[in-house]
Amino acid sequence: MSLAGIKSIEDFELKDQRVFIRLDLNVPIKNGVITDDTRIRAALPTVKYALDHKAKIILCSHLGRPKNSEDRKDFSLEPVADRLSELLDAEVQLVEEPGSDTPKALLSGIHRRQLILLENIRFDPGEEKNSMELANKIASYVDIYINDAFGASHRAHATIVALPSIIKKKGLGFLMKKEIEMLDKVLIEPAKPFCALMGGSKVSDKIGVIEHLLEKIDTFVIGGAMAYTFLAAQNISVGSSKIEKDKISLAKELLGRLDARKKKILLPVDHVIVERLEKDAPSKICDVAIPAGFMGVDIGPKTIELFSQELKKAGTVFWNGPMGVFEMPPFSKGSFKIAEVLADSTAVTVVGGGDSAAAVNASGFANKMTHISTGGGASLEYLQGDKLPGIEALRPPQRGPQK
Ligand code: ADP
Ligand code: MG
Repeated sequence: MSLAGIKSIEDFELKDQRVFIRLDLNVPIKNGVITDDTRIRAALPTVKYALDHKAKIILCSHLGRPKNSEDRKDFSLEPVADRLSELLDAEVQLVEEPGSDTPKALLSGIHRRQLILLENIRFDPGEEKNSMELANKIASYVDIYINDAFGASHRAHATIVALPSIIKKKGLGFLMKKEIEMLDKVLIEPAKPFCALMGGSKVSDKIGVIEHLLEKIDTFVIGGAMAYTFLAAQNISVGSSKIEKDKISLAKELLGRLDARKKKILLPVDHVIVERLEKDAPSKICDVAIPAGFMGVDIGPKTIELFSQELKKAGTVFWNGPMGVFEMPPFSKGSFKIAEVLADSTAVTVVGGGDSAAAVNASGFANKMTHISTGGGASLEYLQGDKLPGIEALRPPQRGPQK
């Protein structure tokens, strides 16, 4: 996607300007403790840049999916405010009501090492409704709008779309730029051979990516639960494995199309199987056909070898979807071994997808990947060729006056 015409934070004079930065600080929190702060760290370059350039900063993010006001405690950004404050060595002031006069009042007296973080923006029902009213309230105390929330930019929400539509000075943050540049590397001119490594649970979610990248990809390597739908499409028994029955014909059609284009497709040749999906369930290895009453939970050793040999030849690997139920340690081997192979490879390795990123982090090889996208849904939609509303909203208007 072309970013032509879209400004970035570096294009503005930030000194003493009220800069609103939309971030994706949607981190996992358990009992008030952040269990993975990757997204907070990924947001730091933009926030630090704004601090260094003496902006008056308003940060904003969503967290999870609060349903009503009773959810406020569980979905508060308070732990995030504390973590940000530590990482930035600055005072982070959490503001409850984005639509009140509080932010405006605070901004007038704000000092250099102090910034504002609006409380979970999804507490305001206007956010998910892309409300103009909420956007107008926020715009009343904002001079410059910066979107650095890649993981939320596939959603037409008020602080992603409505707000930048009424602010003239608007642009991208550093994380957004990096995410798009890395995904474009895969989309536009991938180093060959280009291998798509797919897995995870839902064929339906990923089919769009496969279709869009069909011509560019040389090899499809398919593992995880997704593989069973493809094996079933070849009339291979999959026992009680997780499959999408209504997607079998689509899988068959897709295999035909790949075959007609002489694309290479690798599917598992053996599996780790169990009778029940429990972490201490006794497991065994079986060849390609899975006996009745058993389900596949990870790729087997022969498959690990087969996939590894193929991945070692690749110039570019895009990985979406774990190879097995990696959340349960006995079934994480396939995903972790594959991560190790990618870590040792010289290929451009891009990982997209929330669970895929979690699997790579858990494998210990995260820092050896070229890029791990912080946005699961957004990265998949981008690779499918969809326009992201959050990026489109940053384009300059074609004509007509604006604020
Ligand atoms: P991502 O979030 O990276 O796009 P998905 O959400 O599509 O990935 O898939 C991740 C989920 O797929 C994980 O929760 C994992 O446990 C599950 N999964 C992978 N392999 C299997 C399998 N063989 N059987 C059941 N679930 C699986
Ligand atoms: Mg997922």
